[in-house]
Amino acid sequence: MENTENRKKWGEDVFSLLSWFKMDKVKNAKVLVAGAGALGNEALKNLALFGVGNIIVVDFDKIEYSNLTRSVLFRPEDADKGLYKADIAAKRLMEINPTINVIPVCGNLATDVGLGVYRRVDVVLGCLDSLTARTYLNRLSFRAGKVWIDGGIGNLEGQVSGYEMNESCYECSLMEEEVADMENRIMSCPAIGQENEEAGRVPTTPVITSIIAAIQVQEAMKIIHKEDLDKGVFTTLIGTMFNYEGMHPDAGIFDFKSYRKDCVSHEYWEDIVEIPQLSADTKISEALDIIKKTMGVENVEINLRNDIFTESLVVKSDNRKFKTMFPKSKISDHIKSSKELRDISFLEGGLYINEYENIDQEFPFMDLTLKQIGIPYLDVIQITTEKGYAYVELTADKKYYEFLF
Ligand SMILES: [Zn+2]
Repeated sequence: MENTENRKKWGEDVFSLLSWFKMDKVKNAKVLVAGAGALGNEALKNLALFGVGNIIVVDFDKIEYSNLTRSVLFRPEDADKGLYKADIAAKRLMEINPTINVIPVCGNLATDVGLGVYRRVDVVLGCLDSLTARTYLNRLSFRAGKVWIDGGIGNLEGQVSGYEMNESCYECSLMEEEVADMENRIMSCPAIGQENEEAGRVPTTPVITSIIAAIQVQEAMKIIHKEDLDKGVFTTLIGTMFNYEGMHPDAGIFDFKSYRKDCVSHEYWEDIVEIPQLSADTKISEALDIIKKTMGVENVEINLRNDIFTESLVVKSDNRKFKTMFPKSKISDHIKSSKELRDISFLEGGLYINEYENIDQEFPFMDLTLKQIGIPYLDVIQITTEKGYAYVELTADKKYYEFLF
């Protein structure tokens, strides 16, 4: 017992010397960090040093030797073993500060993290290297009504900006070509950011990484102290951008506010109904019944908004079928892993996907679970009923994210 007590000691008292630091706020804070690469490592390290009590770290990648030059949390042995970035980051953070809780998610920020996680955190940090992943993070943060802080690095240059519904939107700030490029990626492969379109091509250094991630965490600390923020104790980077250029040193903050009327990111999911009996492990037949009963409706259609369920790949020329029965986000890896499918040349349009975007009473695979059709734990599902759209949460999955409740 005594050992446990010792292990749980941490010197955060020193921060009470800061005029703005409120220990209870920081201990109870919940932060979602998307990406455990170079920026993620630095951001997570700072959050742990500050004693931010509850952190969720999401990354689908495994540790490689090339990561070690900018990743304070990783060791050569981790690369030897090819361990997951999120797992190791979580483990090392709790070594640095044993008083905090960290939950790793070795997966995709959109298809493996439920919206119930997003809606329960104080702030989201985007430590990402792809435009598509940032766009998804923007959409999910807006649906959940959360501020997200984006960091970007390249060479000796970096930027930080904050985004919030009705204030400033990442997707609206993109140039037309960028949007077109991204729409193509999203259409062809919803394995968001899994393509790592920029990874390896943007050279970065451990120095620019720590500068930019540090500013991100500083912004996060302000959002955590929301009351003080509302009183004007702080100003955030929401609607502005901090830019640092290290080659010929220059730094500044400039207006960076875009908010178009027709942007699809501006969607806030309100009046979410939490259903304590509903889990991603619930079978579809049962889930439809539970939702009908809870909502008092006759008809329920589940709209798959992040991932789509695929039944099979079909060869266009001769209608040969290859059974899939998994979400669309896994299709590109599946094709890559099969020589036969690769040879049919997906890119030239040799295959089409037999898929389901909406699930109702007519769905032929009622024994599958929600997870099997692409809905993650603690997600919020958009449903269509005879009364219109509604949102229900898989609240039985709170067991996977206890500290959020
Ligand atoms: Zn927008």
